[in-house]
Amino acid sequence: MEERRVTGTGPRTQDGIDTSRPHPARVYDWFLGGKDNYPVDEELGRSIAAIDAGAPRAARANRAFMHRATRALAAEQGVRQFLDIGTGIPTEPNLHQIAQSVAPDARVVYVDNDPIVLAHASALLRGTPEGVTEYVQADARDPGSILERAARVLDLDRPVALSLIALLHFVADEDGARDLVGTLVGALAPGSFLVLSTMTADFEPENVRKGIAAYAAGGVTLVARSHAEVGAFFQGLDLLEPGIVPVARWRSEDAPDGPVSLYGGVARKP
Ligand code: SAH
Repeated sequence: MEERRVTGTGPRTQDGIDTSRPHPARVYDWFLGGKDNYPVDEELGRSIAAIDAGAPRAARANRAFMHRATRALAAEQGVRQFLDIGTGIPTEPNLHQIAQSVAPDARVVYVDNDPIVLAHASALLRGTPEGVTEYVQADARDPGSILERAARVLDLDRPVALSLIALLHFVADEDGARDLVGTLVGALAPGSFLVLSTMTADFEPENVRKGIAAYAAGGVTLVARSHAEVGAFFQGLDLLEPGIVPVARWRSEDAPDGPVSLYGGVARKP
């Protein structure tokens, strides 16, 4: 473990993917039953699942939240432009597939800072002929550059659904989590939406604390936030029903088989 934490220059694939250290996007892919992960990721995934059986459940519930929120915005709110930051490794259906199944002309910009996502980006670019999908490699902590590049594909004078799904627990407050959300939302037109999910320790404090420690031992920093702290990200926006709730409960009839330690919400910019 110690060695892993200090290296970061270990074996790499041709795409520049470091396979010597576990990586959150790949651990998440393992939780979802994906194939784009390495033994180090599976090892960390297994140790987290052993400590906190809710972690894989939360990953699946989060993905389903993304599906429902995207569908609701495309179908009910008529949103045709999507900016998804912290996209992750493609897992079908991806956001553009949901949006374009409702509105084939939907335009989607995906953003992630990880080379493994870039390596799989071709799957994110296969959209409808009427629509557009674009992938941008950028860091969420540099919202100005994201907006500039997104504006080449999206009309920022018209509504955009900005999704930050399971992203912000990787960005500490000291790293400007609030500011990045404020800058991005501030640049969007009235009638735009923010879709957000992020980790909380409100329901299973002990398990989540242990999960955070397991990630930390793998060199990954995670931040859990309270309901009020998540609410602060939505300041100045109008939350859609049912407000900020565990992702499994956002407009879903299905009861998960245990607590889900991720809050989710969707809000409209007035
Ligand atoms: N949104 C997807 C994936 C969540 S996993 C879903 O909910 O299913 C979180 C993703 O955020 C990972 O792919 C990780 O690479 C990305 N990420 C973490 N920190 C980031 C940052 N500072 N800038 C851009 N992407 C980041």
